[in-house]
Amino acid sequence: MIVIKSQLEIEAMQEAGRITAKALRVVGEAVRVGVTTAELDRIAEECIRGEGAVPAFKGYHGFPGTLCTSINEQVVHGIPAKRRLADGDILSVDCGAVIDGFYGDSALTFPVGTISTEAKALLDATAASLQAGIARCREGMRLYDIGAAVQDVAERAGFSVVREYVGHGIGRAMHEDPQVPNFGKVGTGPALKVGMVIAIEPMVNAGKYDVYSLSDGWTVVTADSSLSAHFEHTVAVTEEGPLILTVE
Ligand code: MG
Ligand code: MG
Repeated sequence: MIVIKSQLEIEAMQEAGRITAKALRVVGEAVRVGVTTAELDRIAEECIRGEGAVPAFKGYHGFPGTLCTSINEQVVHGIPAKRRLADGDILSVDCGAVIDGFYGDSALTFPVGTISTEAKALLDATAASLQAGIARCREGMRLYDIGAAVQDVAERAGFSVVREYVGHGIGRAMHEDPQVPNFGKVGTGPALKVGMVIAIEPMVNAGKYDVYSLSDGWTVVTADSSLSAHFEHTVAVTEEGPLILTVE
């Protein structure tokens, strides 16, 4: 069942989104060659708790971190640890915060030092695919119009979209109905209505779309070891069109 949010609920979600965005900004300011992902995780947790919110991922199905930190061929759900970032890495950071019972969820991929031309193209295409998806997030469109737009941008750039993991509705739970795939057919899926709030999150691989999970039970990697990028925003369908909630 897709939960429709009131104007007041969307305003409450804006606060969760603002805190999530702030944590990602602060983490981004700390991303540099030599920093560990555990250190970035500590910075994010401090920021979120300093705002009176709670990290949404910590303890979720036993996940140990405030952030998911996924480096290079890691797609999503990487666990913050002692690994130091190296020049040329790309680091996907996924962050969530909960306050007053509402969730925010957002991700972006940072370049570390000087990255390759291919890595830069992947980051640009993934960010652009998210924007294309967000633009479809309006009443009158259908749910899979979003994924179709994401897929079109990613594939035109020569990349592929992950099939096994998808975006989602969000509100008083981090994962609500509906699932929001990053692929699909234009004009299909449930009708989008004012008051729906969804997390759109393209995961785009430089190579093929196949992925698998490592033995840590969390980290998802590309099957062909190609680079992967991840961008995400929490977005509300409003009378005025798409409203991105995960911004400061
Ligand atoms: Mg996320
Ligand atoms: Mg999400």
